[in-house]
Order: sequence, then C-alpha cells, then structure tokens
Amino acid sequence: MSPRALLARWIVPVNPEGVVHEHHALIVAGERIVELLPRSELSARYPDIEREDLGNSVLIPGFINAHTHSAMALMRGLADDLPLMRWLEDHIWPTEQRWVGPTFVRAGTELAVVEMLAGGTTCFNDNYFFPDVTAVTASQAGMRAVVGMPVISLPTAWAENEDEYFSRGLEVHQAVLSDPLVTTAFAPHAPYTVSDSAFARMAELAEEMDVPIHLHLLEAKGEVENSRKQYGKHPLDRLAELGVLGPRLLAVHMTQLTEADMDRVARAGVHVLHCPASNLKLASGICPVAALDARGVNIAIGTDGAASNNTLDMFAEMRLAALLAKGASGDPEAIPAARALSMATINGARALGLEDQIGSLEAGKLADVVAVQLDVAETLPVHHVISQLVYACARSQVSKVWVAGKAVYASGSPVHLNKLEVADRAREWGQKLRLSQQSE
Ligand SMILES: [Zn+2]
Repeated sequence: MSPRALLARWIVPVNPEGVVHEHHALIVAGERIVELLPRSELSARYPDIEREDLGNSVLIPGFINAHTHSAMALMRGLADDLPLMRWLEDHIWPTEQRWVGPTFVRAGTELAVVEMLAGGTTCFNDNYFFPDVTAVTASQAGMRAVVGMPVISLPTAWAENEDEYFSRGLEVHQAVLSDPLVTTAFAPHAPYTVSDSAFARMAELAEEMDVPIHLHLLEAKGEVENSRKQYGKHPLDRLAELGVLGPRLLAVHMTQLTEADMDRVARAGVHVLHCPASNLKLASGICPVAALDARGVNIAIGTDGAASNNTLDMFAEMRLAALLAKGASGDPEAIPAARALSMATINGARALGLEDQIGSLEAGKLADVVAVQLDVAETLPVHHVISQLVYACARSQVSKVWVAGKAVYASGSPVHLNKLEVADRAREWGQKLRLSQQSE
C-alpha cells in the first residue's frame, strides 16, 4: 500500500504522555502508522505522497470506551433517578426479559455505534447478550470491539444456565477469531450473580484462551456485606481463591475500596474500568481514582451503558473523570489532563491486551485516529492542546475518524451505516419499550 500523509496543526500521540507535536504529519500505509515526522521534512522524505490536510485540527488516537453495554442504548432514559438494585430489578431486567434478542441487540448496537463513532470512539469493550450480533454489527460499521462472553446464573434469552453461557460464549470466541476488528473477553455479570464454579472455570479458560475477565465489582454499598452473608467472605478474597484476582481481571466501578483493598488490587495487577457518570447517577459511590493512580494501577474510562449514563460520550466521561478525581481527593493536581487522556485511550488498550496494537499514535500501530477541530469559539485560543481536549472540547468537534487506516466517520455521518435508518429503528423500539412499561 502506498503511504498517505495526514496533516493537522497538532498531533497528540498520547505515548509519551503529555507530548504535543505541532506542524507534523502522520504517515499511514494500509492499516498501520508508518511514522510521525515534522512537516518540513515531508517533501524530501515522501515527495509524491497523497496528502489529506485537516487544517487547524488535532489528531489523537481513537477513544477506547473500556466498559459499555452498547445495545442498552435503546433503554436510554427508560428509568432514571433510582438506586442500582431497584433500577435493575424493577426496570432493566424485566425489559430485557421481555425484549432482548438478536434484533433488539442489532438495533441497539447500531445506535450506539453511530453515537460512539461520531464522538471519536474507535473501540468499545462490551458486555451484553448476543455478543455474536454485537461483533457483526461493530465489524460491519468498521469499528473495533471486544465483545463479552456473558456469564450470569440467571436464565436469559441468550442462555438457560451457566453451562450454556460458556458453550455459547466459546462459539462466539471461535467465530470472531478470523475478524481483525473483534476480540473477546469473559463477561461475568457480578460476584453476586455468578457461582464459584463458573468463576473457577473461566479463570482457567481465560488463561488458556488468553482473554481478559470483564466484571462489575464493588459497584455499590452492600456488596461487601452481602458477600460476607452469602459466601462468608469479602468479594476480593472470594475472587482470589477462585483464581480470578490477577492481571486478566478488568474490574468495573470499584467504588467500595479500603486502603488495604487498593494495595491488594495494585499488587495483583488488576485493571480498573472507571465509569464516573454511571457511579454518580446511581449514587453507587466514588472510585478512588487518584489513590489508585498513585499506586500505579492501570485505570481506563468507560461510559457504562446509555441506560445509566445517559450518553456514550467519551469527551464528557474523560472530563468528568479528571474533575471528580480532583474533587474527591481534594487535590487539584490529581489526574492532570494528559493522564485523563491516557485513561481514555492507551490505558484502555492496556486493559484489553491490545496495547501493542492501538491506544496511541506510534509507528507500527494500527491507524485508529480521530481528527478534532479546535479552531472554534469553544476551544480558542489554544494555549494548551491537551487541556482543551480534556476540559473544553465537545464531541461535536470531531470531524473525521479512521479505524485501521480506513475512514469510518466523515462529513457528519458514519461511512458504513445509514444513520437515518438506524434512527428509525431506534424510534420503533422506543415505542415498543414504552408501551410495554405502561402496560405493567
Ligand atoms: Zn456496566
């Protein structure tokens, strides 16, 4: 493939953290980044190269939404202002029981993909039923995804019992092996909905298959006490005994941590997937991000599903993560802008085991790139590019998105999805879900 040059006023490679290149070019050949070089050297090095000039934009690596349930976009705003268990038991689970199937997941994931691509997200770590449908939907849109193989000790439309969750999950894993855009992770729902034997089994399989374990953990008050009642032990002790507490574990939420728990999580190499909007909205608690970061824990950012956020906006989530870390720790120096940007990009890649492929703009990596227009009133003047990205920028400033070197979002639309049709299907599903809520 002959190389192309993407030209932008600034390039933020993310690795090394905090670096901003001005008047540089990003050279891309096929699906990969070849190099980053000063614009002044371009003509000498690549005299006839095809150039795409993005003007006063900044190029950044695509966001990695480290935790979401994309199909739940159809349940955005269905039930708000409730505590976690009432929200789940009275609204989300009954709706899922009645409606979730392949067509629901297709329509919901398409809606989420349209929203995520437009906001500069190029990869998402998903946990939902019918991951086979999620995988195909993302891949057809040209978007990268890590699809969860769900495990929960409740029957759903996806599987009857834990055995069937495993067998169906493993089938999905096999099916996506040939898809360069999709990988898998085990996605046990939570310690309180998954059995000991299922955890032990997935710990062994995850090692064999070399995949992460993506788990809601210590999300809200009561989880520790309930675990002590039900299992006679703290969830972290239980997971450690079952072989789950280690560097394969992607622990979502983690709002209920003591100092000793934080030391333990750091020692075990657990990754924390931080979802600040969802935690605040459900009043679950606050993840001690500053203290975890100080201990060297890898923290990535996720939006959670749109039913508890209610957006899939990684700019908003990144900003909130930075602000909340400062407010909660009382330290304005906690999680500076460059660290927040790392959490939304390279740290997600690291958690997902994709660090050598995506998450930063470096030679040899896949060209998952986002152009963000900074030359607008909202982000002028540009004193500090990374500060503007984290503290001032909105997702509407994303002008173009590439995954593996191919444009997937341009001129306000996803390239491989018809956004009007996606919106029509979302409206139809919205109507059905509302009617069924009213009839209950
Ligand atoms: Zn979640």
